[in-house]
Amino acid sequence: MQKGVPFESLKTIPQTAYIHRRDEKIVQNKNWDDLYLSSYEDCLADKIKFAEDFKRIEKESNAWNSKRIIQESGDFKVFVNPPFTHISEREADTIYDLPYTRMPHPRYHKKGIIPAYEMIKHSINIHRGCFGGCSFCTISAHQGKFISSRSENSILKEVAQITKMPDFKGHITDVGGPTANMYKMTGSELALCKKCKKYSCIFPEICKNLNASHQALIDLYKKIRRYPGIKKVTIGSGIRYDLFMTGRNPESDKEYFEELVKFHVSGRLKVAPEHTSEQVLKLMRKPSFSYFSKLYDSFYRICKDNNLKQQLIPYLMSAHPGCTMKDMNELVNIVKRLKIKPEQVQIFTPTPMTLSSVMFYTGINPYTMEKVHIAKSMKERQLQHKTFFRYKREQ
Ligand code: SF4
Repeated sequence: MQKGVPFESLKTIPQTAYIHRRDEKIVQNKNWDDLYLSSYEDCLADKIKFAEDFKRIEKESNAWNSKRIIQESGDFKVFVNPPFTHISEREADTIYDLPYTRMPHPRYHKKGIIPAYEMIKHSINIHRGCFGGCSFCTISAHQGKFISSRSENSILKEVAQITKMPDFKGHITDVGGPTANMYKMTGSELALCKKCKKYSCIFPEICKNLNASHQALIDLYKKIRRYPGIKKVTIGSGIRYDLFMTGRNPESDKEYFEELVKFHVSGRLKVAPEHTSEQVLKLMRKPSFSYFSKLYDSFYRICKDNNLKQQLIPYLMSAHPGCTMKDMNELVNIVKRLKIKPEQVQIFTPTPMTLSSVMFYTGINPYTMEKVHIAKSMKERQLQHKTFFRYKREQ
């Protein structure tokens, strides 16, 4: 633009979108292949086409080198350029080392206490990206499945800054990211990852090429909690427990969970099995409930051995596509056997750009084209949700 190029002709910038008139000639970009979706009108008329397109878009959002996506809509064509490739450690450090004020926007100065700010002001983001691929989450559409981690040095510099904040009393409330325990995890052979378009590196099973060692994270936790001025470090971001419960890295898996439970839980460890039904979990792309049961046993054993009074709190979801009243009844019976009274629960709410929302709208699973039960009426949704609270007398 400084050279005088008009704004509307900037069409080769990654991660931007623009429109063309339908009859205008399309300029091929030598760096990108094109992917044509069904037209907007065809998608409105045919849910199968919409579902198929979702699958194609999801593959591109999880590729190292994505295609440019094009869709016709009325008299126009919409172009979505591929995203930037994921950032290196040096680039991540450069971004996080910028001189942030760590303060809310001045616009909020007169607002008094801002709960969201209170929650994050002494927390640290250590990486971007998530390779979990949960069906109801948009993170892979925002940040991609490849993890970009900061260096230890950059993170420790931020720890030093936090210790100098006037209201800091020694407690760092999070050392995390979209998923807390994916720090520094990458494919062992990057060449394989560069060709891979899978939506998850851990579902339905952990990829053989994924280096899922927690060693770098364990070392980081130790360094942060030993840093002068730090009294307590808790992990507020969610963890993917299948990453250390499957026994892929026997040395670091056990040590990671012990470190977490002994030093980094603020009384209650919240984890997200989301459901107990294997068929619902499959549609959610979540691990089998058997891993939660194992986690539950290990958690309370570690607490007992170390004389810690802590609780394991499961996040659960009702009315997700595929979930029936029978599944909800089974869920409450199973959690009751574990003496858990569900409290951290949510009713499924469709979120744009997610597989779950596409199933909710189309009634089919785009990957198998099979029909999926959808609790769409308010009555069924509420009935499913109330099941969680059956232990309460008034329900
Ligand atoms: S090859 Fe494996 S580790 Fe690499 S991106 Fe694909 S699923 Fe993930």
